[in-house]
Amino acid sequence: MSREEFQALLDYSVEEARTVLLQGKVADYIPELKKAPAEQLGIVLTDLEGHIYASGDTDRPFTIQSIVKVFALLYALEHFGPDLVFEKVGMEPSGASFMEMTTLSDFSNKPSNPLINAGAIVVASMISQEIEFDHFLEYISGLCASNGLKVNEAVFLSELDHSERNHALAWELKRLRLLTNNLDESLWFYTRGCAVEMTARELSRFAVILANGGYDPLTGEQKVDAEVVRITLTLLFTCGLYNGTGEFAVRIGLPAKSGVGGGILAAAHQRFGIGAYGPSLDIYGNSIGAIKVLSELSEKLDWHTFAWNE
Ligand code: GLN
Repeated sequence: MSREEFQALLDYSVEEARTVLLQGKVADYIPELKKAPAEQLGIVLTDLEGHIYASGDTDRPFTIQSIVKVFALLYALEHFGPDLVFEKVGMEPSGASFMEMTTLSDFSNKPSNPLINAGAIVVASMISQEIEFDHFLEYISGLCASNGLKVNEAVFLSELDHSERNHALAWELKRLRLLTNNLDESLWFYTRGCAVEMTARELSRFAVILANGGYDPLTGEQKVDAEVVRITLTLLFTCGLYNGTGEFAVRIGLPAKSGVGGGILAAAHQRFGIGAYGPSLDIYGNSIGAIKVLSELSEKLDWHTFAWNE
């Protein structure tokens, strides 16, 4: 397929997917997120040679929300090592909503995985004890090849003001002695991370590093340890879209992570880093339009991890 044909397929898939946007709903449990434009949808693909294919609404920044859990997990795995991290959080899919209380402790008395809120608060607690938030923000910016990502202060304050559920989770984590830092600082750090803003282009730039074993094909640097990327992608495949993960794995077959701001990051192994944005969400809190585009592209381009190519 030529690059022009590829771009045409992308444009067609985005336009087709717009038809499902009305079936979804913008997140409203954080008041500031209600302002997001439900009609927007866009996707950016970065390939290993640095070609960028973009279609739809791709330049509007959005808050990454749960996608911050990926950056936090990478940071924690690199700096504390898998043994310490998995002492405090599990590796099992929860099969439940991102903020579900019952997934807090499995039989081993720890959050099922680092990609649900309870697990991410534990990871944020570990990181916040070691570094300032701004240093973590620089780490995220570096992985997105951005020269300075920012926090959306309005979204941050709005979420902090409506974080009763995350407080409840954090108190239970404290009871289980899983918080390394104090409760307020752990929650502050986690919530501020959720409010980091970026565009689909920046998200896709990060995703291409994941798709390429941690090696940035554009700068020629090993940005993340390959073993850490392997662990992270496996968890994204099994836990990245909450209780929508199984269906996404069957239909689309890529490791991915969603956020209630409407972002989805996905990695087509050794092919593309993908960043998508569409704030209209399905019942699980995943971008309904982005999933539709990804499903169309995965089918047409044989992206599924277990696709059989004769
Ligand atoms: N900031 C959100 C929360 O903690 C993130 C949830 C999400 O994106 N699924 O509730």
